[in-house]
Amino acid sequence: MSKQSSNNPPPEPSGKPVLADNRMLALFAETVEQAPVAISITDDKANILYVNQAFTRVTGYAPEESIGRNESMLSDKNTPKAVYDELWNRIKSQQIWQGYLLNRHKDGRRYLADLTIAPILNDRHETTHYIGMHRDITEMYRLEQRVNQQKVLIETVVDSIPVATVLLDESDRVVLDNKMYKTLSSDLGLSDPARTFIDILREDMAEEWERMKKKKSGFHNREVRFDRGGHHAPRWYACAGSWFCQEDDRVEAFFHENSHTYLLLTLTDITQQKKHAEEIRINALKALMAEEEKTQRLRETLSGAIHHIQGPINLLKAAKTMLTRRGLDDRNIALVDILDQIRSAGEQSVAHMKRCIPESNTSAMTPVNLNQLLHETIVLLTERLLASGIVVEWKPTPVLPALMGQESHLRTMFKQIIENAIEAMNQSGIVTRELRISTWSDKHLLHVSIEDTGPGIPDELRIKVFEPFFSTKNDGHGGHSGTGLTMAQEVINQHLGLIRIDPSYRDGCRVRIQFNIHNMMFVPEKASDHG
Ligand code: FAD
Repeated sequence: MSKQSSNNPPPEPSGKPVLADNRMLALFAETVEQAPVAISITDDKANILYVNQAFTRVTGYAPEESIGRNESMLSDKNTPKAVYDELWNRIKSQQIWQGYLLNRHKDGRRYLADLTIAPILNDRHETTHYIGMHRDITEMYRLEQRVNQQKVLIETVVDSIPVATVLLDESDRVVLDNKMYKTLSSDLGLSDPARTFIDILREDMAEEWERMKKKKSGFHNREVRFDRGGHHAPRWYACAGSWFCQEDDRVEAFFHENSHTYLLLTLTDITQQKKHAEEIRINALKALMAEEEKTQRLRETLSGAIHHIQGPINLLKAAKTMLTRRGLDDRNIALVDILDQIRSAGEQSVAHMKRCIPESNTSAMTPVNLNQLLHETIVLLTERLLASGIVVEWKPTPVLPALMGQESHLRTMFKQIIENAIEAMNQSGIVTRELRISTWSDKHLLHVSIEDTGPGIPDELRIKVFEPFFSTKNDGHGGHSGTGLTMAQEVINQHLGLIRIDPSYRDGCRVRIQFNIHNMMFVPEKASDHG
């Protein structure tokens, strides 16, 4: 294409230009001279024969001050002898040595040299020279050390934080954690508790979570209850988190800036405070429940009485109809009159008793944690359970979504079902006395199972037991009004849930309850009585 310059030899078939030997040598010499790395060439005893410009810049020695002298002029006595021995063993066996030496600059200051020494061999494979190449990496080393020290410092500080702390990347992988987090992990028996907490918080906070993440802001004091069941008391954690961005330090991001989002999560164990608060709450509940029980008993007694009076009143009505149909004579008229008076008195009494039935209080709808409710109920009934020698197996799902509901009604309902189980197992002849309560959830439903090892409920009565005033227990003292399960069903109906006796369970009675997680609870305008 273009004319060959007279200085340039014709290209080889490969296309590479071939330079004359001495021009090539000159080019190599110039390249070495200008190379940005300190280069020295020595004889086989390390006596310096040549140094380039960078050598002078790095060591402070001009060529005339270094040529003829030994490389040991750079040595600093702080480098262990073993390092030099290893260096010499390697290069004398005609291998390349690469390592770090502490060198002394001409002005006396020390610097760290990243040095490579390569032997140069003649045709007979004898070492005639060595070529040494080194860079002053003092600054880089210092920075690296500082980074390492900072890392150790950060780790020490993070470790000494008396709260479980964990740093997570965008995929919720743990990047950094502390001792307290490791302790938390073993306490909860979870290999990766942060993931569990994040799942709960993400679900709880929904769009708020994404919004905060986007804004790189944070949250604090989000309480998470963790139920491990069995003999383990529930644990409470106050969670705080803050998102921040960090530039990508990978080489791929050299030309294209990229940043990563991290979440710093702290999990403070507030179980003690919660326990204390729960104790106070349980005591208050005990008083409240005792009061509610009294009211409930009054309601049941009055409803029962109405139920019993209603029967004769109906009979009186029927008798009057019969007499009237037969035709009224003087005697009958007097009788009908008396019957009317009795019926009217009865109806007045019924109306009066109905007015006396205390209304069930309608509590506000709040998010309710069924695990907490059931646990509280077990605690409330502990004395009775112990007195009856009942072993409780409490198996809550560790984390249960909240249910919108009327807390006190739900508590009364669970208490009623558990009391039924206690009574059933208290019957003579029941040797194994176990109460198993478990909770779990799936996508849409919350499930509760309460099973006992009592006599169970016969198949033909599985539906009937929910009817008002029906009781399988006949203790002759009128202690069983037969309204407990009716009330339970009513509460569950109000929460748009389902209750049933599991027909497949044969070792006692198993009550299955389920609620829709996204229930739109039905609250009657006026709570009805069970009469
Ligand atoms: P010694 O380790 O006893 O060395 C003194 C001298 O004795 C050596 O320089 C060498 O001439 C000779 N010698 C020692 N051991 C042997 C052996 N096994 N075989 C042959 N001769 C030996 N050292 C540095 O501290 N900084 C450098 O930047 C550096 N660059 C080097 C570059 C090259 C190309 C070579 C070959 C060596 C280099 N050395 C360097 C090593 C250096 O030669 C010394 O070994 C080292 O400085 C220790 O010196 P010293 O005073 O403790 O004595």
